[in-house]
Amino acid sequence: MAEDLNALSHDAFRARWREWLHANFPNEWRIPIIHRLAGEDERRWHRMTYAAGWRAPSWPKEYGGLGLSLEKQLIMNEEMEAHRCARVLDSGGALLAPVLMKYGTEEQKARYLPAILNGDDLWCQGYSEPNSGSDLASLGTTAVKDGKHFIINGQKIWTTLAAFADRIFVLVRTNKDVKKQAGISFILADMDLPGLTVRPIMNLAGEDELCEVFFDNVCVPTENLVGALDQGWTVAKALLGDERITNGAPTLPRQSFEMLEQLVQGLDLGDDQGVNDRVAVLLCDLHDLAALHRQVADAAIRGEVDNAVLSMMKVLATELFQHITDEMLRVSNESAGLVEPVGIGGLDTDLRKLFMVARPSTIYAGANEVQRNIISNMLLGPAAK
Ligand SMILES: Cc1cc2nc3c(=O)[nH]c(=O)nc-3n(C[C@H](O)[C@H](O)[C@H](O)COP(=O)(O)OP(=O)(O)OC[C@H]3O[C@@H](n4cnc5c(N)ncnc54)[C@H](O)[C@@H]3O)c2cc1C
Repeated sequence: MAEDLNALSHDAFRARWREWLHANFPNEWRIPIIHRLAGEDERRWHRMTYAAGWRAPSWPKEYGGLGLSLEKQLIMNEEMEAHRCARVLDSGGALLAPVLMKYGTEEQKARYLPAILNGDDLWCQGYSEPNSGSDLASLGTTAVKDGKHFIINGQKIWTTLAAFADRIFVLVRTNKDVKKQAGISFILADMDLPGLTVRPIMNLAGEDELCEVFFDNVCVPTENLVGALDQGWTVAKALLGDERITNGAPTLPRQSFEMLEQLVQGLDLGDDQGVNDRVAVLLCDLHDLAALHRQVADAAIRGEVDNAVLSMMKVLATELFQHITDEMLRVSNESAGLVEPVGIGGLDTDLRKLFMVARPSTIYAGANEVQRNIISNMLLGPAAK
């Protein structure tokens, strides 16, 4: 029987995870913030952690996860942050799996969860469309039932890492005659189906992680429907809540702040009062965010998180991340314009890429303006809108 990692003291658990991480995390992936594991690298990471018994810390044991307490999950994240690990999206493990566990059939769980665990399946998230982002419920991609299949037509956009994914979870319209939220379904599809094409989009940072995904009479078995027909909005919302928890963590602000401190030292700006004042404000904000995150984590341990607080965390974390990277560019003067990695003091990073990673963080996982609507709605009441 597998060892109960929850029975270890926090210190012993931290030491065990740190030892494995330091011995096994490839050095070439130790590039925080600006590097994200994609495609075969992401698959390799899932396979490594799976083989070593470290995969899926938050999943219940009955589904093959570690069933770790939230405290121990946070310890794992802290150690990865301290080891300067590259980011991993894990749309299958972090976003889809929790909704499959809640809304999926036994067959769906048995088919998809093991393949997410062992890295056989990489997933992507097909929610946004060219005319449906913030107002997601207006989405127009359709799925029409035809015997034992759905025929899907339409287009998704901004689908992260779709070009590397084996499968996609999509929101589709299955009923046009009801209120817009009531006619949506959540469907799973293989990326190699006839009629499904992916077109990467090159962004200003010179990267093509985001994609368009086109559905042209794509035929998917009806057993790929998750939850009830026309009830996909409930499934979609559960997933978005999980996404906001991740995006409200202080990891990226904390890592970027460390880089900012290195820059200030490397550029010998320690006596510049203006710089010091601005850095001090950012540090205070970082402490506030970390304290709020701790409170939210403690509340989550007691099962008491509310949506407005998750939205607040997402807003605070992403805007602080941007303010810190803005300050990095400000203190770097002409080096900030270089389209290549720079070495300043002890810091060796690509400032432009860092800035480009921070910019969209206020847009994805629900734009911050929309999060502010949620916050005002929940705290002040609908009249405040
Ligand atoms: C890096 C990145 C990765 C992404 N990855 C994925 C992915 O994997 N899968 C996926 O499905 N989508 C993904 N998205 C898409 C993302 O979810 C959408 O961009 C986001 O929901 C906003 O939608 P939109 O781009 O259509 O902008 P719009 O909704 O058109 O918004 C435009 C502007 O108007 C504001 N606005 C809109 N409505 C309101 C309102 N009611 N009140 C106040 N202001 C409002 C917005 O805040 C924004 O500033 C990603 C986006 C980015 C940037």
